[in-house]
Amino acid sequence: MDRSTLRAPSDFIRDIVAHDLATNKHGGRVVTRFPPEPNGYLHIGHAKSICLNFGIALENGGVCHLRFDDTNPAKEDVEYVDSIQADVRWLGFDWKDKLFYASDYFDQLHDYAVQLIRAGKAYVDSLSAEELRAHRGTLTAPGRNSPYRDRSVEENLRLFAAMRAGEFDEGTHVLRAKIDMSSPNINLRDPAIFRVKRVPHHRTGDRWCIYPMYDFAHALSDAIEGITHSICTLEFEDHRPLYDWVLDNLPVPSHPQQIEFARLNLSYTVLSKRKLLELVGQGHVSGWDDPRMPTIAGLRRRGYTPEAMRAFCAAIGVAKRDSLVDVAMLEHAVRDDLNKRAPRAMAVLRPLRVVIDNYPADQVEELDAINNPEDPSMGTRRVPFSRELYIERDDFREDPPKQFYRLAPGREVRLRYAYFIRCERVVKDERGEVVELHCSYDPATRGGDAPDGRKVKATLHWVSAGHAIPAEVRLYDRLFTVENPSVEKEGADYRTFLNPNSLEVLSDCQLEPSLAGAAPGSFYQFERHGYFCADTVDAKPGQPVFNRTVGLRDTWAKIEAAGKS
Ligand code: ATP
Ligand code: MG
Repeated sequence: MDRSTLRAPSDFIRDIVAHDLATNKHGGRVVTRFPPEPNGYLHIGHAKSICLNFGIALENGGVCHLRFDDTNPAKEDVEYVDSIQADVRWLGFDWKDKLFYASDYFDQLHDYAVQLIRAGKAYVDSLSAEELRAHRGTLTAPGRNSPYRDRSVEENLRLFAAMRAGEFDEGTHVLRAKIDMSSPNINLRDPAIFRVKRVPHHRTGDRWCIYPMYDFAHALSDAIEGITHSICTLEFEDHRPLYDWVLDNLPVPSHPQQIEFARLNLSYTVLSKRKLLELVGQGHVSGWDDPRMPTIAGLRRRGYTPEAMRAFCAAIGVAKRDSLVDVAMLEHAVRDDLNKRAPRAMAVLRPLRVVIDNYPADQVEELDAINNPEDPSMGTRRVPFSRELYIERDDFREDPPKQFYRLAPGREVRLRYAYFIRCERVVKDERGEVVELHCSYDPATRGGDAPDGRKVKATLHWVSAGHAIPAEVRLYDRLFTVENPSVEKEGADYRTFLNPNSLEVLSDCQLEPSLAGAAPGSFYQFERHGYFCADTVDAKPGQPVFNRTVGLRDTWAKIEAAGKS
């Protein structure tokens, strides 16, 4: 693994950590955490948070905890717990033995809640959900005290015990922190800290029918674990006063510092878990690991490498202001990584048969091909050449337009690593479609150059028809047609911007024989096409499936530029 991509340039959070180390604020400790809720698969936005939290720990000899924030059993599932762990590991990070679950703290969190009640700082409210909303006020109008706000400590203890004992229905009673109903910050207007929820939990079973609310559970989990820097996204900035209130009003072992940064937004992509869940649930994609999904599982299946994802996260940096990152930056990161590492191969995606009439019918030559011009240590391989070949349908035009330099009747081109060939005759079917080319080759041009110095304007890739292996190749494109599908235009739902051409399946491709043994997940550059990865799910022995990770160049940038000019 290329460890250099584990280290990111500095940013305002790393500056805070460095300053805290220099002033010995936490006794030299750096403890961060990544706290996903197990209610979906991780996506590239989470990767940014993972690289930040694990990266800072790694750079400072600290540790980063993986903590499942599993306080809402209605939406959570062990499938997600498992996928999250696999994805963090795959990205190259290690939580050592620091794997935690907020649900492991339910007893402690319950005890803390009782302590707040005893101190007169929490009360059981019996307003309905609707009444609670009405009392909360608005951004401009203060809230109103609930008529239940001044219940005695004894009554609150009795009611909270009854909540826990399962004597109340959902929504009839809630435990609230007693802070300030007139605070300009709505989060401080007596927020709920425990609610009744009659749902079994994937870890605690039906031991509990009350569950702690996020802000309460999160602050206390951080404190219990001795987190030093609790890094979260900007939408929690307004929750920080509540985070601090909880920790200031309870005898907690530590008081972590919450620091907020801007979440990743990516063009042509949605990163909301709710929307990703909808795309999966409604069958717009084949699953969480559909290669068009921005999930880590999807990107992995698409052929993205952990190195590329970490390089991307380092390149986008960490800032305090929201922005939209161009998805071309992500594509650039994987191209850059695979260019250095992916073995080259020849693959004909839309085959057109070529017969070389003057090549001996029973002859096969093994020609030397370079595995990676960027890395000579990757060596060479042998590619068979014979009388019948496939070339790319697009590489021939019967009536070539200006600037089309590839094969056409009477024209000569180079076959990579092989010979010059000239098109002598075109065979068509009854509908007039070209089905076969008859060509001649010049034996003197073996290896790709003519001794008489004559030049050709194009070099084509090819495979030997008798040796090629048939394969399915899936060409993926962006899942959305607009830059920011989440910003509703004229009230349109993000799903109206789904790209109908985001997947093209080519089932009749022909690959050079060296690809027969491609291990699932292995990546290649198909010459002149782009980077491809052997699918890990749908390939069967003898029936390989390859996914296009990314094309060789940023064709979208060109299309967009053309559209604008
Ligand atoms: P939700 O809470 O709505 O289910 P979420 O995307 O916030 O969705 P979490 O599981 O709570 O999901 O996220 C875990 C961590 O990842 C949080 O600390 C969150 O701030 C961070 N995170 C989530 N989305 C992004 C993003 N787009 N960019 C950076 N960090 C993110
Ligand atoms: Mg969240």
